[in-house]
Amino acid sequence: MPDSNFAERSEEQVSGAKVIAQALKTQDVEYIFGIVGIPVTEIAIAAQQLGIKYIGMRNEQAACYAASAIGYLTSRPGVCLVVSGPGLIHALGGMANANMNCWPLLVIGGSSERNQETMGAFQEFPQVEACRLYTKFSARPSSIEAIPFVIEKAVRSSIYGRPGACYVDIPADFVNLQVNVNSIKYMERCMSPPISMAETSAVCTAASVIRNAKQPLLIIGKGAAYAHAEESIKKLVEQYKLPFLPTPMGKGVVPDNHPYCVGAARSRALQFADVIVLFGARLNWILHFGLPPRYQPDVKFIQVDICAEELGNNVKPTVTLLGNIHAVTKQLLEELDKTPWQYPPESKWWKTLREKMKSNEAASKELASKKSLPMNYYTVFYHIQEQLPRDCFVVSEGANTMDIGRTVLQNYLPRHRLDAGTFGTMGVGLGFAIAAAVVAKDRSPGQWIICVEGDSAFGFSGMEVETICRYNLPIILLVVNNNGIYQGFDTDTWKEMLKFQDATAVVPPMCLLPNSHYEQVMTAFGGKGYFVQTPEELQKSLRQSLADTTKPSLINVMIEPQATRKAQAEHHVKAAKA
Ligand code: ADP
Ligand code: MG
Repeated sequence: MPDSNFAERSEEQVSGAKVIAQALKTQDVEYIFGIVGIPVTEIAIAAQQLGIKYIGMRNEQAACYAASAIGYLTSRPGVCLVVSGPGLIHALGGMANANMNCWPLLVIGGSSERNQETMGAFQEFPQVEACRLYTKFSARPSSIEAIPFVIEKAVRSSIYGRPGACYVDIPADFVNLQVNVNSIKYMERCMSPPISMAETSAVCTAASVIRNAKQPLLIIGKGAAYAHAEESIKKLVEQYKLPFLPTPMGKGVVPDNHPYCVGAARSRALQFADVIVLFGARLNWILHFGLPPRYQPDVKFIQVDICAEELGNNVKPTVTLLGNIHAVTKQLLEELDKTPWQYPPESKWWKTLREKMKSNEAASKELASKKSLPMNYYTVFYHIQEQLPRDCFVVSEGANTMDIGRTVLQNYLPRHRLDAGTFGTMGVGLGFAIAAAVVAKDRSPGQWIICVEGDSAFGFSGMEVETICRYNLPIILLVVNNNGIYQGFDTDTWKEMLKFQDATAVVPPMCLLPNSHYEQVMTAFGGKGYFVQTPEELQKSLRQSLADTTKPSLINVMIEPQATRKAQAEHHVKAAKA
C-alpha cells in the first residue's frame, strides 16, 4: 500500500477483479477452487498474483465440494469461483452439501452485466435468489466500493454461529471496471468466532445427570471435530471412563482404537444407553432420530450444540448446553471435577458393550479371512487397514464401500475422515481428497490422502483425476469395484443378458459395465494404475503406491459383484447408510 499522503493524491486505478482478490486476501482466504471463463478469469489471475492458491477443477460441483472441505479442515472458508448461469447452478450441489454439513464456504459467482438484466443476457439467471435456499447469506454488492464490505460479511456469516455456505454475486461489468484506488476501503480480517459458553446451572444439571447414569454414552459428532474439541473430550472420556461412539465424521476426535470406543457395538450402545451426551451431532437419520426402537423410550439426552434452533429437534432433551463444544466440555470437566467420581469400569454396561464388540469384531474378521475369489468387502478393507498410515486422511463414499469401510478403516486423528456426510452426497470424494491434499501439502507435508470409492461413486467426479495429476497431489484412489450401484453382474452374466436384446431393455438399472478398467483413467494422465483381483495383488499395489511419493495412484479392486455386508447388519442398510 502506498503511504497515505501519496494515496490521497493518487490517480491510480484498480479493477473490480483486483478489489475482489484483495478483499479475499484481507479475509485470509488461502484457497480458491473453480473453473474460469467469462466473467471470472481475471479474478482468479488477480488472486494468484496476491498469493492465493488457485486450483482449477473440471466441474463446478467438485470444485464446490473441495472448497467446502477447506472450511471444515481449516475453520476459514475456502472459495469456489464459478462463471454465470450454468457454472453457478453446477455449484449448487456443493453449497447444499456444505450447508447440510454445517461447513463454512464462500461461493463467488460471476453474473451477467447489470445493464442487460431481464433482456436475455448471456447466461443470465436470478443467481442471488437461486442461492438463497442453499446458503445462510446471499448478496450482490451494490458497487465495487461495497465489495470488501460484502465479502467480509459473507466470510463472517460462514463461520459465526452454525457454520454454513454464503454466496456473493459479481456482475460481469464489475470485473474490468476501473475505480480510483482511494475509493476502496478494505475491511479488517474478521476475527475467529467469539466463544460462547453454556449456562452454569445447566452445566450443573448435566454433570449430575451424567454422574447418576447407569448406562451412559457419549456421542461425538463432526461438530466436535469442527470445534477442535479433541483435547477436552478425550479428557472427559478418560478421566471418567465413559464409553463413546463417534459418528462417521466424528471418528478420530478420540482415536478409533481407544479402549473406550464402542464403535463396534454401535447398535447396542444406542439401544440401551440411559443417558446420552451429544457433542455436535444432530438427532437426524444418521442417529435414527433419537427415537425407539433404536433407543430406550426414556433415554435422557444432554445436547451440546452451538445452534439454539437445533436443541430439542425430534426429542425433548433433559439438558441443553448451548455453546462452543470445546468450551462447554471444559465447563463440564470443571463441574465434574468438584466431586471425585468415575463411571465404574466393572459395570454390567461395560460388560455387555465389550461382549458385543468382541462378537462383532470376530464376525467381520471371519468374513475378512475368506479366501474365495472374487474378494468380499471385508477382505479388501482389512488389507487396506493393514497398510494405512496412521496420520492419513481417509476420504470415502459409496454405499457398502463407505458403510463397511467405516467399520474397518481406523481414524487416529480428528478431521481426518471425510465422507458423504449429512446429505448422503455421492460425488464428493475426489473434491474432498483434492482439498485435503492441498491443505496437507501446506501444513503437514508427507501425509497421504487415501480415497476409498465405490465404482459408482467414483463416476460422479471421475474426471477430477486429471486435476489430481495436474497438481501432482499425494492421493491414492482405491475404487472398490462391484460393477454396479449396490450390486452388479460378472462378465459372463452380462454377455448372456445381451445376447438377444438391447441393453436398455434388459440391463438392470443398478448395473455398470463389468470389469471396467478405472485405473486407466489415472494412467491416462501420467499417474500409476493397478488392476487387482487378489489379496496379494492388493497388498502389493498399495505398498508400491505408498512407497512412491512422486505420483498419485488408482487401484481398481475387483470384488464379488453380489457382495454385501454381514448378515446381522442387513436391516441397517436401508435405514442408515452414513
Ligand atoms: P454428525 O453428522 O457427525 O452427527 P452433525 O452435522 O449432525 O454431526 O451435527 C454437527 C452439529 O455441530 C451441528 O448441529 C452444529 O450446529 C454443531 N456445531 C458446529 N460447530 C460447533 C461448535 N463450534 N460448537 C458447538 N456446536 C457446533
Ligand atoms: Mg459399486
